[in-house]
Amino acid sequence: MRTLILFTALVAISAVPGLSAEKLPALIVDGQNNHGVWPKTTQMMKKYLEESGLFAVDVATTAPKGIDPDFHPDFAKYKVVVSNYNGAPWPEATQNAFADYVRNGGGFVVVHAADNSFPEWPEYNQMIGLGGWGGRNEKSGPYVYLSKEGEVIRNEEPGSGGHHGSQHDFSVVVRDSNHPITKGMPREWMHVKDELYDKLRGPAGRMKVLATAYADPATGGSGRHEPMIFTIDFGKGRVFHTPMGHADYSQECVGFIATLQRGTEWAATGSVTQPLPQDFPTATALSKRAWGE
Ligand code: ZN
Repeated sequence: MRTLILFTALVAISAVPGLSAEKLPALIVDGQNNHGVWPKTTQMMKKYLEESGLFAVDVATTAPKGIDPDFHPDFAKYKVVVSNYNGAPWPEATQNAFADYVRNGGGFVVVHAADNSFPEWPEYNQMIGLGGWGGRNEKSGPYVYLSKEGEVIRNEEPGSGGHHGSQHDFSVVVRDSNHPITKGMPREWMHVKDELYDKLRGPAGRMKVLATAYADPATGGSGRHEPMIFTIDFGKGRVFHTPMGHADYSQECVGFIATLQRGTEWAATGSVTQPLPQDFPTATALSKRAWGE
């Protein structure tokens, strides 16, 4: 009888997503950010990833100010690293270890202001494809955006990198529905109030734009179709980048949550096994999950 109970318990455990032994180890890096809400958004992203049942998530936090000489996570332990960090440079050894980690096949996820980080670190700019602020300009690479019809435009004109208009709900338009991250998404879906980053610029090598949003001049935007979901290959590593996710309310968007979950799985493994959630937004309807409920 005891054997039977044990067997039943094992079957029950293996059938519950999230309790399997083969979770993907993921690391969120944070500790400094011009967005004061970062401790909360780290916890939100940690929970979203864990709720997928796929990831076991650790967090590595730097000292609150300046270069942290003790910050050297063991990146090689993880299948994917998610950055919620926008602050002082990491120690050089940590930078080199991180670039080697991605080059050798580690996954990397760039969320919102993480693409403001490290303007002076050439490999980081190659990894993120496009970045903003921090003195970025024409020397950083072209502005990259899409025409209405979907042609990729690389605009070399001089000017600063990184800008946004006023925050608002906006429509995300899927431009490549064959990619695992965007497969099954409606062609257009509404994203909850966020900063719509525009005029990002960078080396943008081996970069694929999967979805864009129109930065309407009426809300102070660039008048361009700006990349919102994109990927970059760096060595053998896969990078998923979304400039969305400014605030806690922006990250409550089911479109953001599912994009983060799928993009992180893709960066870790090269494929996506998660179905699109039933409550995914549509072209006309926002969908959010209130945090803490
Ligand atoms: Zn922001």
